[in-house]
Amino acid sequence: MSLAEALSAVKSRIDLAAKQAGRDPNDVELIVVTKTHPAQLVLDLLAIGQRNFGENKDQEASAKALEVASVNPTNQPIWHFVGQLQSNKVKSMLNYTSVLHSLDRESLLKELAKQLANRPQTSLDVFIELNLTDDPGRGGVQPKDLLSFASKVLEVPQLNLLGVMGVAGLGANPSAEFERVAKASADLRSISPKSGYISAGMSTDFEQAIAQGATHIRVGTAITGNR
Ligand SMILES: *Cc1c(COP(=O)(O)O)cnc(C)c1O
Repeated sequence: MSLAEALSAVKSRIDLAAKQAGRDPNDVELIVVTKTHPAQLVLDLLAIGQRNFGENKDQEASAKALEVASVNPTNQPIWHFVGQLQSNKVKSMLNYTSVLHSLDRESLLKELAKQLANRPQTSLDVFIELNLTDDPGRGGVQPKDLLSFASKVLEVPQLNLLGVMGVAGLGANPSAEFERVAKASADLRSISPKSGYISAGMSTDFEQAIAQGATHIRVGTAITGNR
């Protein structure tokens, strides 16, 4: 399958899943996760109309973003940062990222506020990442702590809180996990009506995520092939 065929196959799956859920497929943003793949793959996807891309490591992403920008200055991708971010990488991440999907802890929020204060012209769209497991070591905000954390995010004017993000656990039932994400999203909307977006779903489970209201899906291998 060519890259264009793989992209279009995923778009057909999105259309079908949205229709089955009674939703408009245009309300589902496809982010192609290009981690471990070279900048050329991003350039190839840009050339066939894909604009939103995801990465999960700053060192790789910052170099790739720079390379894509220098080769292709007139057709710029929109970069989404989807992985766990060390606080010492925040400054670099802000240079290329439009949307951070993994705001998962207070120390990261503090560093974001600090770095944004140095850049009054910059604002950043963010999702709060939920921890859907009972294991605090997994990272992410426990659903019970969501509203108190969200209220702190809302206090930083340069952060635009889009909504919640979830990754279904290995071996878990994705539909049940995405239902918890949808429930958390409803809670969040009760204090921030504009924060109703949901980042959920990957190559193997994005149909279930769309059924539960996902507005941003993060798809890697189904388009790029195996890493
Ligand atoms: C790698 C990654 C994806 C994409 O996963 P695939 O299974 O390749 O579709 C999505 N979200 C996050 C957070 C990732 O790290």
